Amino acid sequence: MIETIGVLGGGQLGRMLTLEAKRMGFRVVTLEPLPNSPCGQVADEQIVAAYDDLRAIGELGARSDVVTYEFENIPLDSVLSLESDRRLVRPDARVLHVAQDRLLEKAFLRDIGCLVAPFARVGDQRELEAAMQSVGFSAVIKTVSGGYDGKNQWVVRDEAGAREAFAAARGALSIFERFVPFDCEVSIICARGADGTIVHFPVTENIHDHGVLATTIVPARVGEDVVEQVRHQAAQIGAALEIVGTYCIEFFVCERALYVNEIAPRVHNSGHYSLDATQISQYEAHVRAICDLPLVEPRLIAPAVMVNILGSGTGDRLEGVADLLRDPDVKLHLYGKRHAALRRKMGHFTVLGPNPAAALEKAEAGRRLLSWRRRVEAVPA
Ligand code: AMP
Repeated sequence: MIETIGVLGGGQLGRMLTLEAKRMGFRVVTLEPLPNSPCGQVADEQIVAAYDDLRAIGELGARSDVVTYEFENIPLDSVLSLESDRRLVRPDARVLHVAQDRLLEKAFLRDIGCLVAPFARVGDQRELEAAMQSVGFSAVIKTVSGGYDGKNQWVVRDEAGAREAFAAARGALSIFERFVPFDCEVSIICARGADGTIVHFPVTENIHDHGVLATTIVPARVGEDVVEQVRHQAAQIGAALEIVGTYCIEFFVCERALYVNEIAPRVHNSGHYSLDATQISQYEAHVRAICDLPLVEPRLIAPAVMVNILGSGTGDRLEGVADLLRDPDVKLHLYGKRHAALRRKMGHFTVLGPNPAAALEKAEAGRRLLSWRRRVEAVPA
């Protein structure tokens, strides 16, 4: 019987997962190098250790009945060591391996018949020259591993730009990907149980700012045909990888085609809205999936817009919260982070509306109310 869940990673996704797991009566132990992490603040215990500290990883495994992760950049060896200790890890190391390597991920997607942007491997100057010829421009160069939120990726428009970007990547193994001139970006959260049951959350529309998610609109303003294809492909990917847990698939929607951008085998920023707008959240669905509890089909209670509250680098004190909270349709979530560095995810709010357009209007008005100011420290008497 599963009583304790181990969470690798101590960020906001782990925090929201933990809050839902605790509501359902589970114990949670997290492992994260920074003390007092967003997840550690709400978990029963936090093991403060590096993700590659195999002794600490072993300790997490020993204290947990199932181990999961809240982001992909956990060293694969750490998850493999848990599996070799016969600990239950969900999703398993094979899934993590594909999701944390952009080349493996794209090749896997192409092999199962999904459309992906044309891509090539770039490990050295010779491969860069070949990629520029075979893939063409405009393009995006991304390091194969270790990137997130637009970090370690560069949009390039010509050969000089590509050489410069590859130099900025300091020769790290990279993927050279054709830029997709998308009409919009959408994603879907699914949850899959060990018995193969898959449930789908509504398809959401995502707007990014400098590679960081800024806004999620649900349901996405796309046709029923796109929704059907997204649901079908996401289920196909989950089944092919035998994912156990919540996962997210991101897509680019073009006029006539649907490209898969990324697989995230974990709870995802574009699913935050589900805490307030569906009768079961992506976090509860994850807990149910990894603990062998029944999965139920999510239902949207009301259209919603989720706004990420990002740091601006101008201060750590959030102003405007009282004004934002005057709206009865706003739900605010803050992550307990002290420093609001530029574009750091500090919190989010979700607006429920009678329709996506009305929710979007309120969301934009809400965003304008918030700003970051310098903390005023108490002056000693
Ligand atoms: P990723 O880390 O791959 O999810 O990329 C972050 C964001 O960069 C995406 O959500 C897109 O907005 C943009 N992006 C990444 N790859 C491409 C591409 N091949 N074509 C167009 N935009 C892209």
